[in-house]
Amino acid sequence: MGFERLGLSDPTLAAVADAGYSEPTPIQAQAIPQVLMGRDILGIAQTGTGKTASFTLPMIDILSEGRARARMPRSLILEPTRELAAQVAENFEKYGKNTKLSMALLIGGVNFTEQEKALDRGVDVLIATPGRLLDHFSRGKLLLNGIDILVVDEADRMLDMGFIPDVEKICERITKNHQTLFFSATMPPVIQRLTKQFLDDPKKIEVARPASTSSNIEQFLIEVSPRDKRKTLRQMLREEKIKNGIIFCNRKRDVKEVFMSLERHGFSVGQLHGDMEQSARMEVLRQFKENEIQLLCASDVAARGLDVPDVSHVFNFDVPGHAEDYVHRIGRTGRAGRQGKAITITTKSKIDVRLLEAVEKLTNTKIARINDLELKPEKRASKKTDKQADDVKSNDPQPSETDARESKSQVTEQEPSQEKSDTAQNSDSKTEKQARPSRRQGRSNDRNERGGRNASRSNERSDRPERSERSERSGRYTQNSRDRIKFAPDDMPKEPFIGLGPHVPAFLVAGIDSPKK
Ligand code: AMP
Repeated sequence: MGFERLGLSDPTLAAVADAGYSEPTPIQAQAIPQVLMGRDILGIAQTGTGKTASFTLPMIDILSEGRARARMPRSLILEPTRELAAQVAENFEKYGKNTKLSMALLIGGVNFTEQEKALDRGVDVLIATPGRLLDHFSRGKLLLNGIDILVVDEADRMLDMGFIPDVEKICERITKNHQTLFFSATMPPVIQRLTKQFLDDPKKIEVARPASTSSNIEQFLIEVSPRDKRKTLRQMLREEKIKNGIIFCNRKRDVKEVFMSLERHGFSVGQLHGDMEQSARMEVLRQFKENEIQLLCASDVAARGLDVPDVSHVFNFDVPGHAEDYVHRIGRTGRAGRQGKAITITTKSKIDVRLLEAVEKLTNTKIARINDLELKPEKRASKKTDKQADDVKSNDPQPSETDARESKSQVTEQEPSQEKSDTAQNSDSKTEKQARPSRRQGRSNDRNERGGRNASRSNERSDRPERSERSERSGRYTQNSRDRIKFAPDDMPKEPFIGLGPHVPAFLVAGIDSPKK
């Protein structure tokens, strides 16, 4: 069945044809006619299924009639991360190019004034992260009583990140009778409760089992000693036929260290994690999407849901701490029917064994073991590395000697960006607000700059898994809501996560009008 049978308008069909799509995906085929009829939707679908177009295409047609009024957006799309919000905005630009709809993006790390100006002009489509939206609402710069369509996207991701209370507040403040389109990859009890509370006789559309991994992804596992992990990764990167690949690490610190180690060994690589300023995150994504860099070293928080259609390899430098993350990570490859390869590096440690069992149980797959990898001797990375390494004494017991020396030198290098994060003024999320216990902390920047107590705490923070930090903060909303692996108390975060920096390029600033006809 082609798109033309779904009830979309000619301008929208033309934009779809320009995007190169001939057939709707299953979620598009099921959702689009229902959305056009004004029905609430409960879509159980992951990224990669075409779900973004399943709500943006009909929304464009519904909103093409009517006019936006100042500070009263006509539709609202809630996204858990800035990257996903920016991705949805790109989709609106692509599919809405034959309409005159106006759009604004409200995400953290961006100046409030520009966003307020866009809201004052009036927008048809508002795409926002929950925290930043509530910030604008509480300043009285935004009214939610003109919303005709509300989209809650990646609801289970919102849950993981502790945003559900914010989502509830937002839903409660939309007083007008409106249509709700609700998407989640999984349906834990908290999400089920939300759907009962806020959806009105929704059409339920389920397109893929939550824990399913794509059959066109070859999965492999390699067990090595902790000290050999980086060397193993490098050897596989050299031996595999890699077009491009994402290397996932559980901890932000490891993302930084593996990135720097690979860079020193001559690989074309970038890094993506939650401590980076938004502008740097967007830039590295652009480089990766446009093949300016071959590899991306990333954390789960920064990379989940990203749409890079043609990734040949995914490497798990660590077995993920939550089994569902394995599905999301390897789902970055093998997209749109292409072949992909996912290789996970594991160790004999008890925690890795438990995490791996959880992954294999969830995916109902026995991952193929690579048993015959012989580590080859390799040249030292660079003289600079050796010199830096000699300057510090590593106490990290895990990586090999050279790696450990490299990593210690990186810990000192990461402080400035971390301090900048501490000074960020505007948060886009509850996470970030909670990360900064008070405005007083913001005023204590100069103490940080002198390398005081807060600076050393920054290093401790970056040594923790990003998701666990968020889950702990999100309190009752995440407790027991998933089948989590329990960590020993020492593995759990003790300090809050520090937010992102304030600098974002102009194109991400609110008020991106769709090109006029
Ligand atoms: P999403 O699940 O919304 O993140 O979409 C995943 C990818 O599928 C994106 O790169 C879309 O551009 C692409 N896509 C969406 N709909 C179609 C379609 N009908 N045919 C081919 N590709 C599509």
